[in-house]
Amino acid sequence: MQQEAQEIPRASPAVRSASVLLIEDEPGIVDFVRRGLEAEGFTVAVEQDGVAGERTALRESFEMVVLDLMLPGRGGLQILRALRDAKPGLPVIVLTARGEVEDRVTGLEAGAADYLVKPFSLAELVARIRAQLRTAAEASATVIQGEDIEVNLLTRRVRRAGEAVPLSTTEFELLVYLLRHRGQVLSREQILSAVWGYEHDPATNIVDVYIGYLRRKLRRGESPAPIYTVRSVGYRLGHGG
Ligand code: CA
Repeated sequence: MQQEAQEIPRASPAVRSASVLLIEDEPGIVDFVRRGLEAEGFTVAVEQDGVAGERTALRESFEMVVLDLMLPGRGGLQILRALRDAKPGLPVIVLTARGEVEDRVTGLEAGAADYLVKPFSLAELVARIRAQLRTAAEASATVIQGEDIEVNLLTRRVRRAGEAVPLSTTEFELLVYLLRHRGQVLSREQILSAVWGYEHDPATNIVDVYIGYLRRKLRRGESPAPIYTVRSVGYRLGHGG
C-alpha cells in the first residue's frame, strides 16, 4: 500500500514520536485523544484511574503527561503536585471541564505547563503538546546536571540539592567544565587551558586555588563537594571518592 505524502513535517522527529501518558477516565475522551495522538506519531499510554495514573507517571518514563483533573482514586491536582516534586522537568497539560476556572488557576500554580478546557479540538491539543515539548527540549539544553548539582547556562544560576550557590564568573566556568566532563580525570593543564584559556606558567597553583573556592562554596553541611583530587594528575567531578 502506498501512503499519500500528505503532511508537511512540522516538528523534529523527537518531538513527533514523543511518548505521552494520558490520565483520563472518560472513555470517549480517552479514545479520541489516543487515536488522534497516535495518528500524529506519538506513543500513547493510558491510565483511567488517579492512583494508577500517578504510579505510572512516577515509575515510567514519558516526555509528556496529559492529565484530567476530575479522576477516580486520586485527584489530578494531587497527581500534579507529586509530579512536580519528583519530576520537575516533565511537562503536564491539564484538562479541565468548562467552569472549573478555579481549578485551572490552582493547576497552573501547582505546576501545570498548560491547560485545555473541554471540549477541545485535537489540533489544539497537538499544538499545545508540541509547544511544551519544544520548551522542555530547550530547557534541557540549557541545564547541566551532575551529582546533585544543577547549572543553568542561561541564567547562570547554580544549585546544589536545590539550594542556590552563588559563584564568581571563574568559579562558574570551572564548574561547568568539570560538569561537562564529569567522571573524567582532568589534568591541571587541561583545566587551565579550558577555563583560563591561555598557556599559563606551569608552576601556577591557580587551578588548585579555584578548586578550593568551588569546594567550599558547594559544600553543604556534612556533604562535601563531589570534586575529587586524583593524586599527581588533577581533579574529577563525580563518580565517588
Ligand atoms: Ca474526569
